[in-house]
Amino acid sequence: PYDGPRAADILRKRLQYLSPSLFHFYNKPLNIVEGKMQYLYDEDGRRYLDAFGGIATVCCGHCHPDVIEAIINQTKKIQHSTVLYLNSAIADFAEALANKMPGDLKVVFFTNSGTEANELALMIARLYTGSQDIISIRNGYHGNAAATMGATAQSNWKFNVVQSGVHHALNPDQYRGHFGTDGEKYAKDVQEIIDFGTTGRIAGFISEAIQGVGGIMELAPGYLPAVYKMIRNAGGLCIADEVQAGFGRTGKHFWGFESHDVIPDIVTMAKGIGNGIPIGAVVTTPEIAQVLTRRSYFNTFGGNPVCTAGGHAVLKVLEKEKLQENAHLVGSHLKDRLSELKEKHEIIGDVRGRGLMLGVELVTDRQKKTPAKAEIAHVLDLMKDMGVLVGKGGFYGNVFRITPPLCFTKQDADFFVDVMDTALAKL
Ligand code: PMP
Repeated sequence: PYDGPRAADILRKRLQYLSPSLFHFYNKPLNIVEGKMQYLYDEDGRRYLDAFGGIATVCCGHCHPDVIEAIINQTKKIQHSTVLYLNSAIADFAEALANKMPGDLKVVFFTNSGTEANELALMIARLYTGSQDIISIRNGYHGNAAATMGATAQSNWKFNVVQSGVHHALNPDQYRGHFGTDGEKYAKDVQEIIDFGTTGRIAGFISEAIQGVGGIMELAPGYLPAVYKMIRNAGGLCIADEVQAGFGRTGKHFWGFESHDVIPDIVTMAKGIGNGIPIGAVVTTPEIAQVLTRRSYFNTFGGNPVCTAGGHAVLKVLEKEKLQENAHLVGSHLKDRLSELKEKHEIIGDVRGRGLMLGVELVTDRQKKTPAKAEIAHVLDLMKDMGVLVGKGGFYGNVFRITPPLCFTKQDADFFVDVMDTALAKL
């Protein structure tokens, strides 16, 4: 049993010594002391089903033994910066990752986070094209440094820093958007930005396939193929941010962009790539990668042996345990059951997403789509009390984000829905 510091003590220290901007979901925040696959344990040994997986960071399960073993073995051998000497961990993982990529996407740059990966991708696009203008989609999230905060398009996550050279296109939002599910109509806005907001030449376009922070918004079908064509006609590169949707999470495909039938010029990833350890990556073509030889590009810990050994182990587990297939099977079942719940509870306005990246949007009025902000916070607490942890997000903070570890079972999915059903009934 756990005999370390209790929640109240930790909270007191957090309030005194840590960032005042930190937030938590629950009335009484949990002290999570252990994780095992899809379960988390608090200080009293109480077990919770984790349907959020640390914001999609845990892909093959908390403390997966194979990943732990790879990290420990590598830590015992050597952990250093990969810049000066050769090391097989980084080379082997880069090869394995490149093998998961379509087309000519074969060169990998490792970073420490999703923000760093997107910063690098945006810089590469600007260097390669010689243009500055970047187009991103409203409601997207891409990071918290200068360029990525500029590309992020939600006021909730933007500080007052100079955000130069970024244009935010209409969100192809199938739930609230003006053009419903017609992706090509939304895409016209991108052409108008190019025509009226730039010189006609641009550096690139960045988007998620399913907006995670934005509330599990799947881009309307037809949007990405149309936009990629426009971007390339204007000389720009297409960047796919796979920080949340990558690594088999969407079920049918390994990468989120694949369900839109496009091949990006640059793909960025983080979170799930390391099952919780800090690592990110940018993958691009050999030709585009050449731009970084114009100066020295240096990242002390990007691709360090311990994190790449861990990342490589994650890829192997995904394959060995057929977790992408599981995300498809369990995710489809879960989505069906959530859709049934929508028939029963008027407050559910929308059920959406793919695989184990699902969203449930709560509204107090289905016609007006009024965000049910207070209600969702209450349901979240009720579900926690019944042993289920789930995320929330979206611009209005009224969307359940369901992104569990990919080892989630059908029984877990049923339990999840039953608990959500009970909590909604108590409203
Ligand atoms: N892109 C997306 C789609 C994300 O969801 C996030 C993190 N929420 C990031 C980029 C930034 O990643 P990180 O927090 O690792 O910097």
